[in-house]
Amino acid sequence: MARKEKRYDVIIVGSGPAGLGAAFHLCEKSDGRSILLIDKAKVSSGGLRNDCKQNYTYPVGFPRDLWSREEATVYLERVATHLNPVYQTPGNIQPYVKRAEKLGVTLLSILQAHVGTDRALPLIKGLLKHIEDRGVEVSLGREMLSLDYPRRRISVSGEEAALEFTDLILAPGRAAYGWIQQIMRSLEVPFSDNIVDVGIRLEARAGNYPIVKDYYDPKFIFPDGVRTFCTNSGSAHVVKEKYEHYYSVNGHSFSTGRTPNGLVNFAMLKTISLTDPVVSGHEFAVILGQMAMQLSGGKPMMQRVGDFRMGNRSKASTFNDDLYDFKPTLKGATPGDITLAMPARILRDIWKSLKMLDTIVPGILHPSTILYYPEIKTYANRPRFSDRHFQIREGVYIIGDGAGTSRGITAAWASGIRAAEGILGAN
Ligand SMILES: Cc1cc2nc3c(=O)[nH]c(=O)nc-3n(C[C@H](O)[C@H](O)[C@H](O)COP(=O)(O)OP(=O)(O)OC[C@H]3O[C@@H](n4cnc5c(N)ncnc54)[C@H](O)[C@@H]3O)c2cc1C
Repeated sequence: MARKEKRYDVIIVGSGPAGLGAAFHLCEKSDGRSILLIDKAKVSSGGLRNDCKQNYTYPVGFPRDLWSREEATVYLERVATHLNPVYQTPGNIQPYVKRAEKLGVTLLSILQAHVGTDRALPLIKGLLKHIEDRGVEVSLGREMLSLDYPRRRISVSGEEAALEFTDLILAPGRAAYGWIQQIMRSLEVPFSDNIVDVGIRLEARAGNYPIVKDYYDPKFIFPDGVRTFCTNSGSAHVVKEKYEHYYSVNGHSFSTGRTPNGLVNFAMLKTISLTDPVVSGHEFAVILGQMAMQLSGGKPMMQRVGDFRMGNRSKASTFNDDLYDFKPTLKGATPGDITLAMPARILRDIWKSLKMLDTIVPGILHPSTILYYPEIKTYANRPRFSDRHFQIREGVYIIGDGAGTSRGITAAWASGIRAAEGILGAN
């Protein structure tokens, strides 16, 4: 049977926060344009489906070279009108702030809302209904395969062979970096990819990291490019994410509706900017990820702080011992020796920062605390944009984490709004 072709004024690829931000702005502000939102996943919506901590304070999630404080603040207000956040009420964090200052460490004060993994899906369904009610066609389980730029067409999986567009917004997220590179090469758009975050995730008894009672996701900035990232407490779990050549760990937590498990987890990440001759952050990530997988049988590695301090590897028995009375929430990790897998420079800076953190929040380096490795965040391929709306060729925009315009939900959403404004003719 011959396959149909269809034309839309705007096609958005990816229903993560970046794609949704664009769809929200377009359907609220545009004058009857036809808009199609597709996602290769059968259930929407990218990274929103996880823990869904929404940060509403610059610079969290915003690359500083693309967003000024003033600009991001204006966009964050718009994001909030779409997502209706219920902000966390911070407790007394002054003692921590003062101790941090003495060590040259900054504790950022962040406006934050936490949804929780179990409540993310209802949130997403509500967001999709909002745009569908305003005329956006949403097509899930449909993948964009390739771009025919001269004919303004994309090929997709499913019933139609090709879809034509006037404007195309690509918001495929970080995981699609290889695919985005292909698209950018086909458009002859230069791009770079030289930054990577490498670190470990700690899992501890909540009593050994009591700051979470007053500050849900404390953002500490240490010297040497190290920071805390994505803290989870309440019903908190460490998970592994599959990448093409390795697993990276991550964390999430359920909403306050779930029974607490008394644990907390967060990452300590070091940002590395690579220079010639090694300039691909993704390639470096693969090298490090594979090295860890080789040493731990294709799984993430875990080590108790007690063993780490003594220079010993952790063994299975370390995790059965009465002394260490909580079990790792990541079931598939291999007990081992992180120092064998992690480059010395990264390990040294992270351990130094951890000792500072233990001075600011005494207890986090209790021997029972677990260190999981690797936690790796590759940054996107950063294309050369031709305007402030993230246009790369006339009528083609790339936004969200996949284009390096954001590193979190709210900033991704903001980048979607900014691209949509470009389509609607804003300067
Ligand atoms: C486990 C985990 C927890 C996280 N927790 C938080 C958090 O609490 N707070 C926070 O701010 N950030 C968090 N993040 C990061 C956050 O999810 C991302 O910053 C954000 O989702 C980026 O949005 P995006 O729209 O650019 O990409 P994504 O959310 O990744 O969405 C991209 C979408 O595009 C689709 N897609 C890709 N290629 C194609 C194609 N060819 N055709 C059609 N569809 C395609 C994908 O299926 C996906 O749905 C977390 C990430 C992970 C992995």
